[in-house]
Amino acid sequence: MMPLEVLDKARSELLDWGGSGMSVMEVSHRGKAFVACAAQTEASLRDVMGVPDNYKVLFLQGGAYGEFAALPMNLSAPGQKIDFLKTGQWSAKAVTEAKKYADARVIADEKESNYSTVPAAGSYTVDADAAYLHYAPNETIGGVEFDYVPDAGDVPVVADMSSTILSRPVDVSKFGVIFGGAQKNMGPAGLAVVIVRDDLLGKARPETPSVWDFAQMAANDSMLNTPPTFGIYLLGLVLDWVKENGGLEGMGARNKAKKDALYSFIDASPFYSNPVALNARSWMNVPFLLAKPELDKQFVTEANEAGLTNLAGHRSVGGMRASIYNAMPLEGVQALIDFMKEFERRNG
Ligand SMILES: *Cc1c(COP(=O)(O)O)cnc(C)c1O
Repeated sequence: MMPLEVLDKARSELLDWGGSGMSVMEVSHRGKAFVACAAQTEASLRDVMGVPDNYKVLFLQGGAYGEFAALPMNLSAPGQKIDFLKTGQWSAKAVTEAKKYADARVIADEKESNYSTVPAAGSYTVDADAAYLHYAPNETIGGVEFDYVPDAGDVPVVADMSSTILSRPVDVSKFGVIFGGAQKNMGPAGLAVVIVRDDLLGKARPETPSVWDFAQMAANDSMLNTPPTFGIYLLGLVLDWVKENGGLEGMGARNKAKKDALYSFIDASPFYSNPVALNARSWMNVPFLLAKPELDKQFVTEANEAGLTNLAGHRSVGGMRASIYNAMPLEGVQALIDFMKEFERRNG
């Protein structure tokens, strides 16, 4: 979901962007106007997230999944160790991809809890020789979110923030790299954002594709080739909206109210349940199960009819999942809770 205000603004200037007589999709990405737009989006992201000066912000393509390959190519030597915390499907996919390039090692695996937990701080040891520690602060499919930032000593921490970026304040200085696909909390599909500490640049393997070489992209303001212009423009509008709504503090307060309402309702109901450990519950993705799983399909159909969409769980896990990203208002969550109450009354 994108903020309505953002879509409205984009619509209002779709045919005539900034007096150009053209859509932002039609201007040259090297023209003055678009270069300024991209610079403004970067400045806004730095401002909203508090990105320190010694970090580069890159606008890339290939999604977060592309970064699963770009990261080992940029940050590790062939055969070097990379440590991973495996807490669900996205961190698992990152391991599989990294194995093509390096000695990807899982140093904590939440298999035993069926990926409903995060490893406790101090329960794993990052190898001092590892190129980096990779983890997914929020596992989008399982709805499992870390309640702390792992400490890897001098080893850089690399965070796949695809589904939690901009959802609450974050201390960027604790990370070597923060990356994510834009399509959950930042904007439309087609844009990937990488925030990388500058001492990690310049180590890319020679065979790294230039468009994924962090140093080359940083040196060219992410415009070595044509960037995803519409996505960069829309991210700028989303960041304006975040600023107008209290910045990341504001997002955090709004998101906390949303997830508290939904989890307390689920916990109080004998009909619905959430399988995730209390300290690892995601603020953005709330999976839930019905006491009568044979009613799953009916639940999704009736919810759709009530205007509550995208509630089927990921195809790999089933059940339900409410993704309550930044743009979802508290009233949207309330409407879901009201529907769930009524569904339980009729079918519980
Ligand atoms: C969605 C998602 C991805 C995949 O992103 P793409 O942009 O589709 O490549 C990776 N990691 C996490 C945590 C995600 O939520």
